[in-house]
Amino acid sequence: MSILPHLTGFSRPELDEFLAKLGEPRYRSDQVFRGLHQRRLQSFVEMTDLPKALRERLCETATASVLSVESKYVSTDGTRRFLMKTNDGYPVETVYIPTENRDTICFSSQSGCPMKCDFCLTAKLGLLRNLTTGEIVEQVIAVLNDVYGVGENTPHGTNLVAMGAGEPFLNFENLIKAVEIMSDENGLFIVPGRITVSTAGIVPKIYDFANLERRPNLAISLSAPTDELRNVLMPINKRWKLDDLMQAAKAFEKTLKRGERFTFEYVLLGGVNDSIEHARALAALLVKHDLRRVKINLIPHNPAEPLDYHPPDLDQVIAFKNALELLGVSAYVRTPRGRDIYAACGQLAAKAG
Ligand code: SF4
Repeated sequence: MSILPHLTGFSRPELDEFLAKLGEPRYRSDQVFRGLHQRRLQSFVEMTDLPKALRERLCETATASVLSVESKYVSTDGTRRFLMKTNDGYPVETVYIPTENRDTICFSSQSGCPMKCDFCLTAKLGLLRNLTTGEIVEQVIAVLNDVYGVGENTPHGTNLVAMGAGEPFLNFENLIKAVEIMSDENGLFIVPGRITVSTAGIVPKIYDFANLERRPNLAISLSAPTDELRNVLMPINKRWKLDDLMQAAKAFEKTLKRGERFTFEYVLLGGVNDSIEHARALAALLVKHDLRRVKINLIPHNPAEPLDYHPPDLDQVIAFKNALELLGVSAYVRTPRGRDIYAACGQLAAKAG
């Protein structure tokens, strides 16, 4: 395992300092940053605009890559699931989801996940470890290089969602630093407005997130309208009850700019949380906490053995959505992508095939 510093995860000031220590002027740091992020190079050897001696020095003292793509699965709908490995052997999963005019990359913030959501296959892995800032950024670089070629233009805008393996708010600092690096206009230039972070409900971090100056969009994974049911589906609810979560959501809502909204995600599990009564209870919960600038993303459960849950009938999904809309709540049904290659929500568990 390499213990060399991974420069892909360095902020601009950190990179300046690193190169200054090698006796290099500031403009070399700019070149290296561009090489790593704009040209998406995963090796210093390819940075041919640098003097050979500097390239050699960089190879001795640092690394530009700590992830290797172990396998790639391509769905009939064009979705690609990447199973990568860190240089100390931990699995990292990343999913590329193309749509007509934009690409979405769903990246992981942790290897495994400690959150124990009952309907999620990733939960079965438990937490293996937090990913470093560089490992978060390199997932995006590796995917774009696979899809378009190293350093080639990406013809579509790229949206990012922190909805792969892991609870992003349990790896808050590394995540926020990665967002900053990826938004740099001399690099990947994926601005925070194009990034959505999804939390299962780490309440104190929702407040911290609300206070960030340049922050991504927020999605809160809800999946149940009552404490009783949410305690079973998402055990984090035993630590922070729905009232605590909704108060944090309200505090976040107050910081939204004009025209902005945030999202609640609701995984629909057939016969478990998908009745009209559940839809009404969900609408009532939003009213109770005066949450108005929200939309609900309905995600029909993706089958994943050995989980006991099954997807709801399509009729039920539509009835649930209609019931919410009748009560004035915006609701959208998320089309599952990449189900056949285990790339869909809740299916990521380092599984082959
Ligand atoms: S749904 Fe998300 S937070 Fe919950 S166990 Fe799965 S990966 Fe973790």
